Amino acid sequence: MAAVTLKGLTKRFGSTLAVDDVDLTIESGSFCVLVGPSGCGKSTLLRMIAGLETIDAGELTIDGRRMNAVRPADRGVSMVFQSYALYPHMTVYRNMAFGLKLAKTETETVDARVRAAARTLRIEDLLDRLPRALSGGQRQRVAIGRAIVRQPKVFLFDEPLSNLDAALRVQMRLEIAHLHERLGTTIIYVTHDQTEAMTLADKIVVLNRGRVEQVGAPLDLYRSPANLFVAGFIGSPPMNLLPATVLVRTEDTVTLGLGGVTLTLPCAARLFVGDAVTLGVRPEHVRPSAGGGSVPLRVDLVEELGESRLLHGSLDGGLPLTLRLHHDRAFARGETIGVDIDPGRTSLFDAAGRRL
Ligand code: ATP
Repeated sequence: MAAVTLKGLTKRFGSTLAVDDVDLTIESGSFCVLVGPSGCGKSTLLRMIAGLETIDAGELTIDGRRMNAVRPADRGVSMVFQSYALYPHMTVYRNMAFGLKLAKTETETVDARVRAAARTLRIEDLLDRLPRALSGGQRQRVAIGRAIVRQPKVFLFDEPLSNLDAALRVQMRLEIAHLHERLGTTIIYVTHDQTEAMTLADKIVVLNRGRVEQVGAPLDLYRSPANLFVAGFIGSPPMNLLPATVLVRTEDTVTLGLGGVTLTLPCAARLFVGDAVTLGVRPEHVRPSAGGGSVPLRVDLVEELGESRLLHGSLDGGLPLTLRLHHDRAFARGETIGVDIDPGRTSLFDAAGRRL
């Protein structure tokens, strides 16, 4: 277990600023997930921590020790790759033992650690097989086993589950959560999968164009995104983001105009009549209304998800709005219904996209 700190970490590839002045503290034993759109610098940041990319500027410490110039093998980290990167001509046992043998670990210790890891990952009966005779999930377990036997201070996972089918991803996700509970080792995990990020992380780091947009516990990011980027990125489907104008301002409320619709919310932020804002509301916080006084919504499409349904509609003026529903009432395409937006569950963003 070890804390990892990044201070002003920066990496350029030619004219591309892949990682831009990143500050981050990852507490010892925590599970930190890096998310962000393709090309935002997640893998580069992870590879800089692993020592597979040089650091152009800034400082990396692991367990209080500066690591910028330390060789990858001496950093106390183990990395698990999306591609597994197993040696095809070696058995599972030899794949798992290889790193320890290179480090001249005693044969008995190697054997004990490989068998213990195989037990943990339930691959004891596969030790004599070659990687080509394994399923994708089994190969991923071997790759994780190879990382475990080195008893690292920090595990680095780079999209480890992306090559697996949906059912296996769910199973492996649970196994990784159990593994973290059992070993207690610090984990830094890159993914573009929302569910993995929300379910596994103690702390999510949202990256965008090499910069940190927000760091926080999964539910804090979900409930209180710091800006429009995080609001639109965290959550699937994402938060509805509706451009609006302040029509009326009282001491503690604000009335917004959204296309042809008005909505009054409690609001303590510094806002004036005429200000342009964005109203954010999660799909589960909009409901078909039982009575009058509601916002009219034209039904465009209903998606059946099994446990819930998504109703995609448009407001007067054409703004799109998505609802998540948990009941079976039928809706016809083109029908106009009334919906209520829960005013206590909305977010407001200023013209620069910052949360108010
Ligand atoms: P993805 O989710 O698609 O894997 P990512 O967030 O992991 O993306 P990185 O792979 O870290 O993104 O890439 C960050 C930026 O740096 C991208 O613009 C990418 O094209 C660029 N980049 C990464 N590696 C190199 C390299 N070896 N040479 C040049 N540019 C690179």
